[in-house]
Amino acid sequence: MALLTLRSALADAEKGGYAVGAFNVSSLDQAIAVLEAAEAESSPVIVQAIAGMSAYDDESRWWSRLRALVSEFDGVPAVLHLDHGRTYDDCLRAIDHGFTSVMIDASRAADTDEPASFEDNVALTRRVVEAATRSGVSVEGELGTIGGAEAGIAGELEEIVFADPDQAVEFVEQTRVDALAVAVGTSHGSVKFTDAAGGGRLRLGLISEIKERLPDTFLVLHGSSSVPAEAVAVINANGGAVRPSYGISPEQKSEGIAAGIRKINQGTDSHLAWSAALRAFLHDNPAVVEPGEQLRPAMGGFRAMVTQRMREFGSSGRA
Ligand SMILES: [Zn+2]
Repeated sequence: MALLTLRSALADAEKGGYAVGAFNVSSLDQAIAVLEAAEAESSPVIVQAIAGMSAYDDESRWWSRLRALVSEFDGVPAVLHLDHGRTYDDCLRAIDHGFTSVMIDASRAADTDEPASFEDNVALTRRVVEAATRSGVSVEGELGTIGGAEAGIAGELEEIVFADPDQAVEFVEQTRVDALAVAVGTSHGSVKFTDAAGGGRLRLGLISEIKERLPDTFLVLHGSSSVPAEAVAVINANGGAVRPSYGISPEQKSEGIAAGIRKINQGTDSHLAWSAALRAFLHDNPAVVEPGEQLRPAMGGFRAMVTQRMREFGSSGRA
């Protein structure tokens, strides 16, 4: 099976009433773990990478190898997606490397990180859509600002500018994006909400309202990792120092899917699953220096989390 565009994968999800998980990878071993889970679950999957974030110095070779690896799993309906492209150049480079989907996050200015004006967001997003369309690549845009930070700095709910349904309609009309990341109460990073109620703040009514007005656009949930307490506890019991916090519960995500969410990003949960398994193994096996023995449990931990999410999102068995 050839790589899919995001539009095609999410159109199938729309028909089936499920969501496709998007898992962040920064090395080939991580991508293998995600693709193996998808293969075993007969699930579609979105493998995503962020520009400037990988284990390698040479991003061009990394992206070429990632593209080749995803193609190798020919039984897996997979989308290769650029997560949080900040500039036109980021997106063009990803398209040149064979990504089938790119996100242009023009909701904040790339240089200052301040919320961008609606007009600036539209202008940059539209330029990316024009280029991507020529290559048959899908585009995800972002409207409103999702709180928190990819790097794991505490995100306060006050920072979130919620998506406005009128603006969402105008944004899609003017940009023609295939998918839209909507700010509906989630937060980026490994430290999300400092109280249990935080993860319950997902504005389901807002999701339904936007979906109703944009039936041909696919809605994406960012900052929606669950931040499992067990994973954080394992990391911290084995030498780590991750501040415990609350994420978005699996139940909330299911309600989001019922309201119309079709792509769910699981960046932080991806990092936590890998780190917890690796730290626990190294702590329990201090004499092991063979890298294969160390990577095996890390890949296994990551694979298990991805498998669980595919079942929660209803994408298992849909390949
Ligand atoms: Zn995001």
